Amino acid sequence: MKFEIIPVTPFQQNCTLMWDEKTNKAAVVDPGADVDKIVKGLERHGLTLEKVLVTHGHLDHCGVAKTLADRYGVPIEGPHEADAYLLNDLATSQTRTWGLPPGVPFVPDRWLNQGDTVTVGGESLQVYHVPGHSPGHIAFFHPASRVAISGDVLFAGSVGRTDLPNGSMKALEKSIRTNMYSLPDDTQFIPGHGPVSTIGKEKKHNPYVPEKR
Ligand SMILES: [Zn+2]
Ligand SMILES: [Zn+2]
Repeated sequence: MKFEIIPVTPFQQNCTLMWDEKTNKAAVVDPGADVDKIVKGLERHGLTLEKVLVTHGHLDHCGVAKTLADRYGVPIEGPHEADAYLLNDLATSQTRTWGLPPGVPFVPDRWLNQGDTVTVGGESLQVYHVPGHSPGHIAFFHPASRVAISGDVLFAGSVGRTDLPNGSMKALEKSIRTNMYSLPDDTQFIPGHGPVSTIGKEKKHNPYVPEKR
């Protein structure tokens, strides 16, 4: 599996293009905005979009999920159903919260839960439910390449904000310790914003959620 980050929105959100090199079937994770940039990424590598994946319901992560899915006639999978209220608000209150152009509200074709599997071509990713930043936040892990997509849960040297409505630092800490830190230390993770890091590095050096306390 190959991964490529396409930064979108003024927040430089890490939209991720991933594809199975054997079939050239691809998924786009967290298309927040900038559809044309994402389409160019697909075309540059000669990929067939198979599905759109969403980590959580914030506008900078899924503002154009429906636009992209409709354009290619593909399904949307994720987030967890607890973020349904955020997906409903993509064109209204979230526009004010984030100061971004309105997104397109949607109901995904499949809600995702802890332990679910998502496929891209012939490859599979594991799904983790990691609430705290938002209640329905999920993360993806591809064991074969040891790459995770952590959305706004865990960043290089930081963690997701928990001051938004329905945020919880207690829940976020639990999500990171029981799920993100259960991944192998050499797992590279792509966060929602900023540089890539590894699970091992964050366990040792993350100032907000150290491995033990
Ligand atoms: Zn977020
Ligand atoms: Zn974000």
